[in-house]
Amino acid sequence: MFKLLLLIAIIWGVYYFFIKKKPLPNKESDVMVECEKCHTFISSREAIIKDGKYYCSKKCAGAKE
Ligand SMILES: [Zn+2]
Repeated sequence: MFKLLLLIAIIWGVYYFFIKKKPLPNKESDVMVECEKCHTFISSREAIIKDGKYYCSKKCAGAKE
């Protein structure tokens, strides 16, 4: 009986360890960023990052003032 409880504890411990270690990507992908050029709001997942700034498209990222 004690061995069974120990086994459950080990399984729970491993399970908990993996759940805790697993990152949550959903929270980060939902961030809305503003385009540096045309000020359109786009999700950071779709945004083009150039020189540390966000752009909505290649056209905005490539266009120079
Ligand atoms: Zn833009």
